[in-house]
Amino acid sequence: MIPEIEKQSKSTIQEFQEEKLKEVLVYLQKNSSYYRSLFERNNIDISMIETLQDLEQVPVTTKDDLQLYNDDFICVPKNKIIDFVTTSGTLGNPVTIVLTDADLDRLAYNEAISFACAGIDNNDIVQLMTTIDRRFMAGLAYFLGIRKLGAGIIRVGAGIPELQWDSILKFEPTYLIAVPSFLLKLIEYADAHHIDYNASSVKGVICIGEPLRNQDFSLSLLSKKIKSKWNINLFSTYASTEMGTAFTECELKQGGHHHPELIIVEILDDLDNPVKEGEYGELTITTLGVEGMPLLRFKTGDVVKVHDEPCGCGRNSLRLSPVVGRKKQMVKYKGTTLYPPAMYDLLNDFDAVKNYIIEISHNDIGTDEILIKIGAESNSEDLLNSVRDHFRAKLRVLPKIEFHNMEEINKLRFPKMSRKPTLFIDRRIL
Ligand SMILES: [Zn+2]
Repeated sequence: MIPEIEKQSKSTIQEFQEEKLKEVLVYLQKNSSYYRSLFERNNIDISMIETLQDLEQVPVTTKDDLQLYNDDFICVPKNKIIDFVTTSGTLGNPVTIVLTDADLDRLAYNEAISFACAGIDNNDIVQLMTTIDRRFMAGLAYFLGIRKLGAGIIRVGAGIPELQWDSILKFEPTYLIAVPSFLLKLIEYADAHHIDYNASSVKGVICIGEPLRNQDFSLSLLSKKIKSKWNINLFSTYASTEMGTAFTECELKQGGHHHPELIIVEILDDLDNPVKEGEYGELTITTLGVEGMPLLRFKTGDVVKVHDEPCGCGRNSLRLSPVVGRKKQMVKYKGTTLYPPAMYDLLNDFDAVKNYIIEISHNDIGTDEILIKIGAESNSEDLLNSVRDHFRAKLRVLPKIEFHNMEEINKLRFPKMSRKPTLFIDRRIL
């Protein structure tokens, strides 16, 4: 099930997106008070924006804009809204994203073609190991997509390895949707309870939230650790609430596939100019076909690069690299540029490290300092040295690493109202 447009040439895909872009601009001018005022203030005549390149005339939309003018982005009256979702804002409060009936259909289509990309079809049964409520979009999107594909779904939700295994043994799902580090917990439980996971019905996992691969698409330490025990097919999917669109790997696992009917992709530098071909920059998106809260040139904060050679699977649409990290979380440490996910991957590889948190601050000369607090059952000097050696070898830097009480770290990791653990605290003064 490859959408026709994804098999077309690059130029056909571009022309197709330019037609869609014109519709978006007309829609925003008519229905979005935020964008109408943005066009006015910047003397933008939308009829003059005809190509994807012309988009550069339009100022970008930032996460701060979404937070500050949240209601002005909403394009429909309240009685057209079906689902209310929130996502963490940049300035403290959550940002609301609203979806209409048509947006929910679009979301279902998006996930259906994304799952199909990873090889799931209507004969499969999928076990959902993520939250479907708590104002999250993702769990609901997965449910809608699986339903649209005609596959079966078991909504177990997050956590509870015992219930997950009970469900796997009872309903025999062929795929799981899970955070990859949770797979380690499943393996641990199975080992302790003599469950032969390699003989289970599960053949693949759609992995969310954490990167699976290095930039050359080789497996990260976390993925290697999973696969060394449980020989399953791991697929990465990358999405965000604001995009309402997923980039999911195909069987060849060469980056997340772009669906040109759903979103326009730009990669921008610090000055909001497009980066040179193949360079890293901030993923900036324009949603297509969204009714409730469409976004134009929205800067996602995620640093990626584009791979645009045709893929062996038959899709010619571009592919996104694994996310290097969040732009704001970039750390400049002793001449090296680092992003937290690389540090997480390294720390996750140590079984003896039970939890951790990374704190970044400015030192008295204004450059970045990294402090890694780790919790372990026994605070051995050997463990500390081993973590240090790994940092030196893999990341070529040696941050400050200290043992802390596990409870104390847990408190930092789960602040009040937070729906996800915090692994990174930024104390830098901006
Ligand atoms: Zn492919």
